[in-house]
Amino acid sequence: MKVFIDPDSGFCFGVSRAIQAAEAELEAGNTVCSLGDMVHNQVQMDQLKAKGLSVITHDELPSMKGKTVMFRAHGEPPETFRLADELGITVLDATCPIVTKLQQRIKEAYAAGLTSGSQIVIYGKPGHAEVAGLNGNAGNTAIIIHSENDFGNIDFSKPLRLFSQTTMDAEAYQSIGEAIQQRMNEAGNTDLVIAKSVCRQVSGRAPALRTFASAHDVIIFVGGNNSANGKYLFSICKAINEKSYFVSSPEDIDVHWFSNAKSVGVSGATSTPGWQIRQVAEYLQGL
Ligand code: SF4
Repeated sequence: MKVFIDPDSGFCFGVSRAIQAAEAELEAGNTVCSLGDMVHNQVQMDQLKAKGLSVITHDELPSMKGKTVMFRAHGEPPETFRLADELGITVLDATCPIVTKLQQRIKEAYAAGLTSGSQIVIYGKPGHAEVAGLNGNAGNTAIIIHSENDFGNIDFSKPLRLFSQTTMDAEAYQSIGEAIQQRMNEAGNTDLVIAKSVCRQVSGRAPALRTFASAHDVIIFVGGNNSANGKYLFSICKAINEKSYFVSSPEDIDVHWFSNAKSVGVSGATSTPGWQIRQVAEYLQGL
């Protein structure tokens, strides 16, 4: 049985960068406190905590007066930066530069909309940290949609600027954009701008993963149980290859999955570290 690692798996650039920044601080002997989990991966979080990382919630931010807090790759709304400033907190800003750029675009669209009357609509997961940061840049006035069921909040007769959370499925975003376009056409309104804001690190993965999943007899997908991106990417594998299994560690693997298998592909979510994928691949090689 041959084992192959998906070359596109592992952390996205933004999460890698944030974790490297935290590790560099910890290795320099500094205390690092992150505002929320740095990544939706329990194993990686446990490893960072073992190195000295602590994690606080937004409600606990006032207790960090005068101390240092790291903002993770998802970004924060302007009010969090303001509060940190008022509390004399030093911010280690690990916001992904792509998220920062998107926040800036939303801020500009929001400012322009104050005179033109356009609505900011964000396609994303309600309650997700990145969405909160994006919405904060629209003065918390954006209409958050996750499916066509949320269209009731949109006024299709008004100008509309559509953005997506960076980690959403590009194909689903396109369908949402087309459905909005159709409703606006029906309302006699053509003032729609759809931003290309799904991150390329995410949008390129679905087609590449389909090819990878169809090339192997069995697919082992490594991810954290709380990773939405992991569940989504795993569903892509499962749709292409029935013999796809989701695991969080080598202990979850059942040897019966591999009877008659000649090749096994190992992939993972954008929140799964490369070392965890290699660990699972090494375990499979030893079977
Ligand atoms: S998915 Fe893209 S935009 Fe989001 S943190 Fe990763 S690299 Fe940055």
